[in-house]
Amino acid sequence: MAAEYRVDGDVAIIEIDNPPVNGLGYAVRAAVADGIGRALADPSVIAVVLTGSVRIFSGGADITEFGTDRALATPTSREVIALIEDSAKPVVAAISGTALGGGLELALATHARVAVDTARLGLPEVNLGLIPGSGGTVRLPRVIDADEAAQMISSGRPRTAAELAALPGQRLLAAVVPADTDPADQQRAVIAAAADVARRLARADTPSARTRDLAPMGGAGLPALRETVRARARGDRAPVAGIDLVARAVAEPFDTAMTAAREVFVALEAGPQSKARRYAFFAERAARKVPGLDPATATRPVHTAGVIGAGTMGRGITLALVAAGIPVTVVDTDPEALSAGLAAIEANLERGVARGRLSAAQAAARRAAITGAGSLEALAEADLIIEAVFEDLEVKKDVFTALDRIARDGAVLATNTSYLDVDAIAAVTSRPEDVLGMHFFSPADVMALLEIVRADRTGDDVLATALAVGKKLGKTTVVARVGDGFIGNRMLAAYRAAATALVDAGADPVDIDAAIEDFGFAMGPFAVGDLAGLDIGWANRKRRYAADPDFPRDTLADALCERGRFGQKTKAGWYDYPDGPRSRTRSPEVADLVADHHRALGVRPQTFEQAEIVDRLVFALADEGARILGDGIAARASDIDVVYLAGYGFPRHRGGPMFHADRAGLAEVAQTLRRVRGDTPDAVAPLLARLAAEGGRFTD
Ligand code: NAD
Repeated sequence: MAAEYRVDGDVAIIEIDNPPVNGLGYAVRAAVADGIGRALADPSVIAVVLTGSVRIFSGGADITEFGTDRALATPTSREVIALIEDSAKPVVAAISGTALGGGLELALATHARVAVDTARLGLPEVNLGLIPGSGGTVRLPRVIDADEAAQMISSGRPRTAAELAALPGQRLLAAVVPADTDPADQQRAVIAAAADVARRLARADTPSARTRDLAPMGGAGLPALRETVRARARGDRAPVAGIDLVARAVAEPFDTAMTAAREVFVALEAGPQSKARRYAFFAERAARKVPGLDPATATRPVHTAGVIGAGTMGRGITLALVAAGIPVTVVDTDPEALSAGLAAIEANLERGVARGRLSAAQAAARRAAITGAGSLEALAEADLIIEAVFEDLEVKKDVFTALDRIARDGAVLATNTSYLDVDAIAAVTSRPEDVLGMHFFSPADVMALLEIVRADRTGDDVLATALAVGKKLGKTTVVARVGDGFIGNRMLAAYRAAATALVDAGADPVDIDAAIEDFGFAMGPFAVGDLAGLDIGWANRKRRYAADPDFPRDTLADALCERGRFGQKTKAGWYDYPDGPRSRTRSPEVADLVADHHRALGVRPQTFEQAEIVDRLVFALADEGARILGDGIAARASDIDVVYLAGYGFPRHRGGPMFHADRAGLAEVAQTLRRVRGDTPDAVAPLLARLAAEGGRFTD
């Protein structure tokens, strides 16, 4: 059975048991319905407690049933919910761990809920491009303030039982019990508290109120919330739809609001955004399975780590490691850089405490786990060493030559290089099987992506260890092979080149950013340049111009830098920032430079359709992705999408560049690229050209 049924005195206990997340698949629904039926039929039972495991009440719908007949098999979630809500004997939910999505909707249909204070309750359906489809939008605003309900639904973020119990006037939780370090004791305590509430309800003079019969609460803030969320959602429909449904739940009768929610759910589920988000969800899971790597491969133990370089990346990587409980020795050979790095780490921890992200005790533990050192010799005992020194192959080779001498046998030696040849770095050691790339993104303690670079001779156990560390750090991991810029930065180069080419064809950079932001990116390519700093690319270009007189000049970007326009840090880049990052405005000086640039090229300034701008940039990404696949740098098109979603801000409701290209149709993609780039053999990646001709897709 997917749920256990037992009777304790006069209370029946139904315990959902469907590892790993107690998903509400067909078997669970049937077992819960069966339990309710038994309790109703048993005269010795006066009330029911519905619970899950100590770790999870229920994670919600079984996502593998989406779009299949099993999702609709009787009893459906709605039928089980009706059975509970209409039950003549009170049903009380006992929540330990998490209650998410359909799991929380099930609990909302019970007559009262009791939770452990640390339990997390949420309706995360927006993450799959959906709204809660089983009454969450209609019942939640009946037990907490509608504004709070709408926040939870539109953000998808769970909240703790302790927080929810403190909301004024809430009827969501009848009681909260303290967490216990012993899981079995905790589970017993929450069930006992729920049984008490259930008995009280059963013995009351009046029947227990059904959530559906309660009046909605509050909702005055919904119009303002809708406006904020709409602006931030950039075309992502579900978050706004969720707020609208809460507003309808406040204004309309229960059944009308339920019908509306059902219709919106069905429309969203069948629509492109939810398909894209569900694809992304499975793509991330698939990325953890590496072709040719036995999932049972034993990993090496990683109890301690070393980080080399206390610069931008070294700091973030150190913070990420200690947050996951791995103590770090940070080495920087420049004493000033070391103390600056340690001070920046300290400031970050203090900020975390000030903003309530960290407790003082957590910050203290992380601080205590960090040791600074001025020489690599300090890393002799480290299990994992991550190098984040200057992006210079010779410097990195020197570091790895020294590590080969210093590091203990079996230590994993990783480089955070963005572009360089990891095989060449491994080759300076006597143990290339221990070497691989662990490419973090800035800021490394925040960004979700970790590109793991499997060099030619990287050992399977070393790769498996890096994947396990990535998981421990909470990162989204993707494995790439060695090649300039691996997956992400190589694509970024193609994307930027497409943006530059579009300007060269007469476009205004401001229009390009506007189109890309309308597509769903938080920032267009030029705004991103201003954020990162234009001087870095300029310094790079100057080196390349010096080395190769034929290296193509980026004259417009050079002109900006020559005028000291380095981006946000100088309050001037592609835009002006008179009052900091949020004050981005069009720059008359840049407009003049763009006009000069167009004149010098002999092109007429022109306004491109937004769709044309998006096609040119996003299809360039997909084309580079096809080349990356063709070169064997990425194993799957979906891995490329994961990189771009997790590391480069591609709008999740569009699925990723490869998914988006598939949706547009690869013949159309190839045709656009040939139109823009000229019909040369190199205009379209060979893999893309072949799939376009065959009517194939990247993501099949
Ligand atoms: P950074 O210049 O901020 O920091 C590098 C640090 O390494 C400096 O503090 C320097 O003193 C130290 N260092 C130099 N040589 C050393 C040596 N031999 N031994 C010990 N310490 C040494 O650079 P960063 O931006 O942190 O980049 C570090 C690496 O991470 C580079 O390979 C870079 O390509 C890569 N990376 C950077 C980013 C980013 O956004 N900045 C993102 C991903 C990867």
